[in-house]
Amino acid sequence: MPVETIVNDKKGIRKTSSPTKLRIAGVIGESIVDGPGIRYVVFAQGCGHHCPGCHNPQTHSFDGGNLMKIGDILQEIEKKPLLDGITFSGGEPFEQASAFAGLARRVKALHQDRNVFVYTGYTYEEILRYADIRPEWGELLDVADILIDGPFMQEKKSYQLLFRGSSNQRIIDMRQTGRSGRVVLAEV
Ligand code: SF4
Repeated sequence: MPVETIVNDKKGIRKTSSPTKLRIAGVIGESIVDGPGIRYVVFAQGCGHHCPGCHNPQTHSFDGGNLMKIGDILQEIEKKPLLDGITFSGGEPFEQASAFAGLARRVKALHQDRNVFVYTGYTYEEILRYADIRPEWGELLDVADILIDGPFMQEKKSYQLLFRGSSNQRIIDMRQTGRSGRVVLAEV
């Protein structure tokens, strides 16, 4: 049974439903390398990008990992009072966009001060282009405070980059981007 939640975003106040389970490769309860502060990280299972040099090839199969109830993940998150936010990494979170959006909404309903970082191998422009035929992509964009976009590119790899693997990837401030109508990079 999908879970119904009340959403208040740029489309107004409305009811929406989201899947109850996520296929995940794993979680990290308290990470300090997947965004600023202390973060709960959920790694999506399943990714079709197959970036050469990917550090997480075990996350590519769409049949691997474990199916977890979103309610159970939420309970684990609630055991971590010091969190600054949550991060969705991969795998490709946008392949389970509705479920991740549902988790983010439930976290934010409990803790308005916790921010949501979303990694994706798609570019922001690609996500916008296909949001009409994949409306759940818009749903996940709506709850993301920061989007780190684009595939990992081995030739642009650098260990000096904060929160990114390669320099083509951008750290996009989704709130500022939404307000200004152009891509605004975050200062992190
Ligand atoms: S998007 Fe991420 S998980 Fe997927 S292949 Fe590229 S680096 Fe690996």
